[in-house]
Amino acid sequence: MTPFARRVTTLGVLGAVLGGGLVGCGHPVPGPAPASGPPSASGTAAHAPDRSADSPAPPAAPEKPAVLAPGPGGRTPVFERGPQRAAKVVALSFDADMTADEGPRAAAGEHFDNPELIALLRRLKVPATVFMTGRWAEEYPDQARSIGTDPLFEIGNHSYSHYAFTTPCYGLPTVEKDAVRDEVRRAFGAIRETGARNVVPYFRFPGGCYDDDTLRALGPEKVTAVQWDVVSGDAFATDADAVAEQVLDGVRSGSLVVMHCTRSAAPVTADAVRQVVPELRKRGYRFVKVSELMAG
Ligand SMILES: [Zn+2]
Repeated sequence: MTPFARRVTTLGVLGAVLGGGLVGCGHPVPGPAPASGPPSASGTAAHAPDRSADSPAPPAAPEKPAVLAPGPGGRTPVFERGPQRAAKVVALSFDADMTADEGPRAAAGEHFDNPELIALLRRLKVPATVFMTGRWAEEYPDQARSIGTDPLFEIGNHSYSHYAFTTPCYGLPTVEKDAVRDEVRRAFGAIRETGARNVVPYFRFPGGCYDDDTLRALGPEKVTAVQWDVVSGDAFATDADAVAEQVLDGVRSGSLVVMHCTRSAAPVTADAVRQVVPELRKRGYRFVKVSELMAG
């Protein structure tokens, strides 16, 4: 279906271009108590990914989130979706985008947060992973702490500035080569500063843009990069029905959906989620966080 494919591509590009910070989140089963402290990027390095394990960690108290093994030469590994199994699981991820230079816009009244969406996920009991920029955490510290202390959610890193990690990347300003690691550290610092505890060593590239050099440069940070296999098309969308349809058409078992958690650039996301969640449950899907999807 060419028109459909074109729409997906167009919206994906739009999201990346304008979003500077729109990306998704996913959730594992609720229940585990928050870790005693936010995992540090380096602290999780020793925790080998265990994708081959056929029995996932008990939901009660996983000590550390699953991560993938480093790539060749210590490159940052990239996760795109979970294994396709008979048990239908899907992870919703929400990018809490705010770019470093958007402070004046927030001060002028633009909303880069989406409390209605978070409340909806709680009401529907949908676990989710929120990829947060450091700038967003600084602007909305109370919300960041609330999300980061709720076992329903986990917070991944979406960079501090939401600048491009390689070019071209939809027109986003580019991070200096020697500053890419600092972008990751600074974002983790800003997120933890809010009191968030459910912080996972996952990193989502702004715009999803990366290359081999980037993966090599970020290797020492010991994060797992998280992409997606389903683009929701919620960035700058005005038709919630179309977003819901796109998600429902794209989801397979093990899928990882990218959506956004910002009213500014994704105003119909909550309405789309309101449609998607009951329909996927009706189809037999269980919602999980990215960490559970990664654990296999
Ligand atoms: Zn983003």
